[in-house]
Amino acid sequence: MTDSAAPDDVPARLAALRQLMRHHQVDALLVPSSDPHLSEYLPARWKGREWLSGFTGSVGTLIVTADMAGVWTDARYWTQAEKELAGSGVQLMKLPSGASVLYIDWLAAHLKPGQCVAVDGAVLGLATARLLTQALAAREILLRTEPDLLCEAWPGRPALPPGPVYEHLPPQASKSRVGKLAELRAAMQQLGATRHLISTLDDIAYLFNLRGADVSFNPVFLAHALIEPTRATLFVAEGKIAPALRAILAEAQVEVAPYAGVGAALAALPHEGALLLDPRRVTYGTRQALPSKLKIIEAVNPTTLAKSRKSDTEAAHVRETMEQDGAALCEFFSGLDATLLDAQRAPLTELDIDTRITAARARRPGFVSPSFGTIAGFRANGAIMHYRATPASHSVIEGDGLLLIDSGGQYLGGTTDVTRVVAVGTPSAAQRRDFTLVLKALIALSVARFPRGTRAPMLDAIARAPLWAEGIDYGHGTGHGVGFFLNVHEGPQSISQAAMPEPQTAMEPGMITSIEPGVYRPGQWGIRIENLVLNRSTGSGEFGEFLAFETLTLCPIDRRCIELALLRDDERGWLNDYHATVRSRLRKHLSGAALAWLEQLTEAL
Ligand code: ZN
Ligand code: ZN
Repeated sequence: MTDSAAPDDVPARLAALRQLMRHHQVDALLVPSSDPHLSEYLPARWKGREWLSGFTGSVGTLIVTADMAGVWTDARYWTQAEKELAGSGVQLMKLPSGASVLYIDWLAAHLKPGQCVAVDGAVLGLATARLLTQALAAREILLRTEPDLLCEAWPGRPALPPGPVYEHLPPQASKSRVGKLAELRAAMQQLGATRHLISTLDDIAYLFNLRGADVSFNPVFLAHALIEPTRATLFVAEGKIAPALRAILAEAQVEVAPYAGVGAALAALPHEGALLLDPRRVTYGTRQALPSKLKIIEAVNPTTLAKSRKSDTEAAHVRETMEQDGAALCEFFSGLDATLLDAQRAPLTELDIDTRITAARARRPGFVSPSFGTIAGFRANGAIMHYRATPASHSVIEGDGLLLIDSGGQYLGGTTDVTRVVAVGTPSAAQRRDFTLVLKALIALSVARFPRGTRAPMLDAIARAPLWAEGIDYGHGTGHGVGFFLNVHEGPQSISQAAMPEPQTAMEPGMITSIEPGVYRPGQWGIRIENLVLNRSTGSGEFGEFLAFETLTLCPIDRRCIELALLRDDERGWLNDYHATVRSRLRKHLSGAALAWLEQLTEAL
């Protein structure tokens, strides 16, 4: 997908970089996996960490000094990083969790007073910048955010993506941009702000009912937005917004300005009033561009909260989308079972899974693209949490083993993300036990009821409890927020031990979150079962309002992997009810072999 470094390119790239570092008197270079919008998935231009180190995972921070280079990443990526960094001279530095900033401690501990750390301020998150500044200042280590050494070190650095911006239209986009802007301005007023800068791409796409294709899998486009009392300005690269769309935007008092002009526009802001900024959603560079006399108000972007709470109309579109996605999955899985039973077949590989599952989704109305790169891991590959089969390295699916498939689609009416594990051949007793424990974990959280406003990270332990009881744990969060035809990972809620249980993580009606517990046995197999769920109010009583989850994902769970004796009656009841729902909702979308497969797989146990 990008020209990430092969291990033997890395030493030459690092040597050239170190020469530049010496020239600029930089003792350590920090390369976060980030862009000016603090995106999770990066446009090629900002995949500098990948280009320098060869590590392709979506989360990881590179530090290069004169005699050391290391990538800090969390447990999800350790196996992958070990493989990709082998022979490159870049060390894997293991982080206990994705949110950890231990690399900052490393810098503070390993540099001497008077030495200098450089990082591109234009891609450094403001909140992270503050931690970094504080830790380095305490040791009298200098921080420079000006020179973007990567620009000099990276000869063929990719340009900005040129693709067009388009409208997300009714009926799927059910609230107008004028209405959303009015809501946003009301929220700004409540916070005492007259202006608001937004840099996060999903917030911008949501607010203006616009979409693009600048980032793989996320239907967003590169832009900043400045919201003022009577007008809004979208900073987008030339040519991305056609004249007709520009005229439509003008009707909502939305102007279009050059992408590169945002810094100058911020610097020229008048001093009266106050500007609202989200320190986790703007960069240090942006903050530095603002006039020093301007009053700043810091709070979570109001759009982040607004877009996380899907309206009833949006939820209805997601239910329809789940039926289409579920039908595509049934066609895929029934076809997979038929292929595996065919003794005369050509070899089936992990790569074929991605091709086939994407083709099945592409036949469904409203499909736009996959929502992330399909993970299809057979046997030991299933234990690599963010495994990607590649043409150079993948397994043939044959014999006995578990096949883990995590995939999703972007549809005009919603974003999907689902993991199922299927048995190839006959699963062993140990595999069935692990699978059933993961299923118990999924059920435990799926049936939970909790007070409205419960901090999402606190729910994490509910899913883990059935696994903890058996001395088992998994090295990733239990669930992430999911957008509405937007990013497959969105906040503010996060069902994860790595997230702080802050007020902004409160569970509110309308939020869509994944539940995806797992068990991973390195070198053997990996199991994860993932559904998306919707927060619904169960009404108010003496102890306030409570929420429960509606399971949105519609796809059979492979009964061949279940050890029935390990399920309690209520768990078996949940599974039978779930399968009855899957059958009744998907039946009308299927025919022939896929329908027969659905009926068989959803029979009561
Ligand atoms: Zn997933
Ligand atoms: Zn997920």
